[in-house]
Amino acid sequence: MIFLGTGITDNIPPIKNIYSTLGTSTYICPDCDGYEITDKQTVVLGGGNAGAGMALTLLYWSKDIIYVNHLKSKIDDEYREKLKANHIPVIEEEVCEVHVDAQQQLTGIQLGSGKIIKAEKAFTAFKGNKLNNDLALQLGVQVNENNHVVIHPRTKETNIKGVWAGGDLVAHSEQVTISMGDGTQAAIWIHKRLLGQPLPYD
Ligand SMILES: Cc1cc2nc3c(=O)[nH]c(=O)nc-3n(C[C@H](O)[C@H](O)[C@H](O)COP(=O)(O)OP(=O)(O)OC[C@H]3O[C@@H](n4cnc5c(N)ncnc54)[C@H](O)[C@@H]3O)c2cc1C
Repeated sequence: MIFLGTGITDNIPPIKNIYSTLGTSTYICPDCDGYEITDKQTVVLGGGNAGAGMALTLLYWSKDIIYVNHLKSKIDDEYREKLKANHIPVIEEEVCEVHVDAQQQLTGIQLGSGKIIKAEKAFTAFKGNKLNNDLALQLGVQVNENNHVVIHPRTKETNIKGVWAGGDLVAHSEQVTISMGDGTQAAIWIHKRLLGQPLPYD
């Protein structure tokens, strides 16, 4: 029996100090951490439409948003108009450093030009997250149109008998509790397989 839980590797560029702030003052998931920026100065570090979309999404929690298009990639007119209408400044410059205090909390960012933008919080929005499905593909496991592993909704078994999967590898929700639930549910059915009991679709 094999359970695959190889997840996703998020694309977060190696900007100086950024990794030490992840999860405490720099976030990637508005559904998970949007509330953390409530009414706070927030800078979105990203690229093109992905960053623009994130900046607009975050308006629900804070109106004090600045978007830094670190990758300097194209932002469509439709997004530019919405950013302008919502008074979100767009800075087309690379970020060279995240400034932190003694507790490794973000205090601002420094641009390539040397300019410092003060902020209490940051969100990242870069395209190119990597789905770690190599092992699954090697085993011949079925994947969907987004290359996520397909599993039985109840048992979490894949199309290959004895190969199970869960977490970010199979769903796009990227939530710890869902990953844990997948693993727990799979364990129940793996146990039944080990006991030689039939599964609902056998
Ligand atoms: C900065 C950040 C903040 C987050 N905040 C939240 C939050 O507040 N709430 C929330 O619910 N979720 C949050 N998430 C998402 C959450 O971390 C994921 O949804 C969850 O960890 C997914 O669990 P998983 O077991 O599927 O994969 P992971 O936790 O990604 O674990 C996969 C593991 O498999 C390993 N691996 C990959 N390929 C191979 C291989 N070929 N061989 C061996 N090992 C391999 C990886 O190195 C990794 O250790 C956050 C994620 C990030 C990056």
